[in-house]
Order: sequence, then structure tokens, then C-alpha cells
Amino acid sequence: MPAIKTCSFCGNPIEPGTGKMFIKKDGTIYNFCSRRCQKNLLEFARNPRKLKWTGVFTKGTARKERKKAVKKIVVPAKPESKEKKVEKKE
Ligand SMILES: [Zn+2]
Repeated sequence: MPAIKTCSFCGNPIEPGTGKMFIKKDGTIYNFCSRRCQKNLLEFARNPRKLKWTGVFTKGTARKERKKAVKKIVVPAKPESKEKKVEKKE
């Protein structure tokens, strides 16, 4: 059974029988799902983490994780509100 490879640029899975394998002179192997990925890496020398359409884009997820961490830390305990609730019940 042929193995499913992942694209070296965008990180998406490549179906068996499709895509292109590119081997550089120094021996490094790149697998590309499309010509778009090949041109962006070899010709334009772009970083896939800075492009929104790639699967390895990290800017948004890093921001969300930071916001969650801040929210977890900042949880002020209000003793006054508890007292008011007790008074209403009585
Ligand atoms: Zn790709």
C-alpha cells in the first residue's frame, strides 16, 4: 500500500499518484502537492508559517493561546458578591 506523504510547504496530505518529488543537489527531498507550493518555496523562498493559506500558519493560533492563558490567570475573587447573595436568600 502506498504511503501518504505530506507537502513540504503547506503540510497538506498528498494523494498517492499525485504531486511532485523534488530532490536538490545536496540531497534534500521536497514533496509538493501543487506547483503553487513548489514556486513559493523554491522560486520565491517564502516562509510557509507567514502565509494564511498554508496548514502550518501559526500566527492566529499563537495569539489565541496567549489570550486563553491571560484569561485563566486573571480570575478575581469577589467576596462582596457572595455576601449579597447570602442576604437575598435570607
Ligand atoms: Zn502544498
